Amino acid sequence: MNLRIPGPTPVPDEVLAATAGQMMNHRGPEFAQIIRRVTDGLNWVFGSSNDVLSITTSGTGGLETAVVNTLSPGDRVLSVSIGSFGDRLKSIAKTYGADVVSYALEWGDAADPAVVGKMLDDDPSIKAVMVTHNETSTGVTNPLEAIAREVKQRNRLIIVDAVSSMSSVPCPVERWNLDVVVSGSQKGWMAPPGLAFVYLSEAAWTANAEAKMPRFYFDAARTRDSLAKLQNPWTPAMSVYYAMDRAFEMMRAEGLESIFTRHEAAGSYTRERVKRWGLKLVPTDERYASNTVTAVWWPDGVDGKAISKRAREEFGVVLGGGQGKLEGKIFRVGHLGWFGHDDIEQALDVVEKLLNEAKAAV
Ligand SMILES: *Cc1c(COP(=O)(O)O)cnc(C)c1O
Repeated sequence: MNLRIPGPTPVPDEVLAATAGQMMNHRGPEFAQIIRRVTDGLNWVFGSSNDVLSITTSGTGGLETAVVNTLSPGDRVLSVSIGSFGDRLKSIAKTYGADVVSYALEWGDAADPAVVGKMLDDDPSIKAVMVTHNETSTGVTNPLEAIAREVKQRNRLIIVDAVSSMSSVPCPVERWNLDVVVSGSQKGWMAPPGLAFVYLSEAAWTANAEAKMPRFYFDAARTRDSLAKLQNPWTPAMSVYYAMDRAFEMMRAEGLESIFTRHEAAGSYTRERVKRWGLKLVPTDERYASNTVTAVWWPDGVDGKAISKRAREEFGVVLGGGQGKLEGKIFRVGHLGWFGHDDIEQALDVVEKLLNEAKAAV
């Protein structure tokens, strides 16, 4: 199978083998060493001098952790949403009683940092801004560094969904002055699903001390206090830790800059090819097109679902579909985590062939 959805992503054999490791005492010295190494790896990739937390949950649980640990019911929050995952973050905040103000864009567009700045100037009661770094549903990467500058100049908190960007494209949390940043093991980390990673800045920990949203399992302070003893408050997904431990060896061998370059190359290769076929990208401004997932409109008169089905059944190429209102209208090619150029090339060869056949049949 050539699994080209934007997560879960393929896992290298070495990492898969590591997940087969025997269980051990999750509060014992051997596992403590694994927690230390995995946390060091996370700090390295996030660009953090605080220990990044690992929580046994999926990316969405990480987002819930971010919200409930920094906000109180009634807090005014600006939701910047450019797609389905931005909407999800907004829903989480609403569920816990935040007073949400919305900056929602057309799907395909990136957020404008100046608009964020203006909205914050117009409403000094906004305490935090929630934004998706890489919107996986539309293949758009927000200009996060510039957005963060607007937010931090005005001294508000910035909560970032970096689930499908962290480790694949640059997102240095301290250099960009981000406050709460979330990722998940099944996206760019070459590991199976099961762990979410959550970074909190000093400002975020200060907010945490006041934050009144209810939390128990996802209590970040509890996780931080356990991590100080190289433990988890609860029984963690140990096999995913084994995987991450091995994946970090591979990531360190490749080097962060080379990983970023590999993703950049895959993004521009994919975009150039689909444009050559005359297809239109979902991102309306290519400067913000994602280097971890490419989203493309199916051309008029072509049954995209039928092409995806043939790609999977006849060629073992699994494409991502559209989410929400884009269902059936677009396809997505994931190029994040563990992949080589050949994987992307083969997937695109198959789509090209099937598209040509479909067009010939019209
Ligand atoms: C995958 C993803 C998530 C979280 O998904 P889970 O299925 O809960 O792991 C959140 N945000 C973005 C941008 C994602 O790509």
